[in-house]
Amino acid sequence: MTAPLSVNSAIAGIAWPGIPAPTGAGLLAILFQLEQSQWWAPEEVSRRQRDQLKVLLSHAGTHVPFYRERLRDLGDLPADDTWPTVWRRIAPLIRAEIQAADAEETMITQALPPGHGELRQIYTSGSTGKPIRSVRTQLWELMWSAFTVRDHLWHRRDFRGTFATLRESGAGKALYPDGARSGSWGYSSATILKTGPMASLNITTPVEHQVEWLRRQDPDYLLTHPTIAQRLAVHCREHGVELPRLKQVITISENLKPEVRSAVRHAWGVPLVDIYSTREIGYIALQCPDHEHYHIQSEHVFVEVVNEEGQPCAPGEVGKLLVTSLHNLAMPLIRYDIGDFVEVGPPCPCGRGLPVINRILGRTQNMLIMPSGQRRWPLLSSANIESMLEIAPGIRQYQLVQKAPDLIELRLAVTRALGADAEARLAEWVRTKLGAPFRVVFAYFDEIPRTAAGKFEDFVCEIDR
Ligand SMILES: [Zn+2]
Repeated sequence: MTAPLSVNSAIAGIAWPGIPAPTGAGLLAILFQLEQSQWWAPEEVSRRQRDQLKVLLSHAGTHVPFYRERLRDLGDLPADDTWPTVWRRIAPLIRAEIQAADAEETMITQALPPGHGELRQIYTSGSTGKPIRSVRTQLWELMWSAFTVRDHLWHRRDFRGTFATLRESGAGKALYPDGARSGSWGYSSATILKTGPMASLNITTPVEHQVEWLRRQDPDYLLTHPTIAQRLAVHCREHGVELPRLKQVITISENLKPEVRSAVRHAWGVPLVDIYSTREIGYIALQCPDHEHYHIQSEHVFVEVVNEEGQPCAPGEVGKLLVTSLHNLAMPLIRYDIGDFVEVGPPCPCGRGLPVINRILGRTQNMLIMPSGQRRWPLLSSANIESMLEIAPGIRQYQLVQKAPDLIELRLAVTRALGADAEARLAEWVRTKLGAPFRVVFAYFDEIPRTAAGKFEDFVCEIDR
């Protein structure tokens, strides 16, 4: 059963039902519609998206110099179901184009309709190392908040609980032993609801300190990166550490490997809920309340999954994501190629009409390049990892880095040094797994470094393309 919600009342003399201040009222108005639109047929969702895309194209073509050029000969989107064929004439937008246009100051709108609020900006480099600026409006942030709350509602979280986060990567912020603490779950939830406290700890904290901190917080929910969740789960299982109140682990920011779900369940007996979002776009897909796959957040983004010819992928196929942010009129991102590949899923048995993504494969940059020049995903299965650990049980952490077309570096953090025999067998394991006679070199670390954003990938391709 879902715990009862308490809406904050901004009106003196009214305790219940709560009537929030205008921003909260706007947020509830969006959530009220999302509760319904999730059950609509895909055709209805598509029509509403077209209506919003028409407004977006008209704004961008008029007020954003970059799009004035790009959308010049497009014409209007047809009123019938053929509109996507016209839409697909718009060239996909790549990161380098955003960088170049922003340098020439042609990417930001010259005017905004009333009601969109002030401009806010963030910088993001993702795992690409190519930073871009993303500018959005206060109205966009309100929409973003609605999807933050939707995720809580979908996964039936009890807002009275303690919410712990292990994702702060800023130097000197939320440091052990205290971390940082606030009285609410953050702006999105607190705008409308009474919530329990939130506790935050820096992601670079050593695992044994993370565990000690978590035991003190005794959280109901834990939000962190998948690789951190896995390391915590393994550590807690090995040391018999329980988190008695914990109800869910929520992951974000990196590609989730299937073994993380089982590690979390084994350690604490709770489910894992994954979130697919990027800093420049916001929420792209949320995990289904009833299944482990994802629903695209079609009320917030228009998502296309396309094959190499630019045609839409069918269920079961893997394709490239092109994402259009529906409500960001400050710096429109239209058919933006964010560099991720996903597998399309069939309609969900839960009854929600929002399209399904089965799995998120990750960044093109981190595909393996075979000696033939072909690219492929070097996904490690649970059986692959098991066979690696059979050769060298002392491996605490690993990472495969392709340094050259014929060279793989196997990075390891180990509890005891490996002998020449184990190294030879691991090198053979790498060649078998990757399917080509790569040269394999070894590099040892106390802790394999993360990116500046605190991310970790188990396969990295360093060949410059
Ligand atoms: Zn579903």
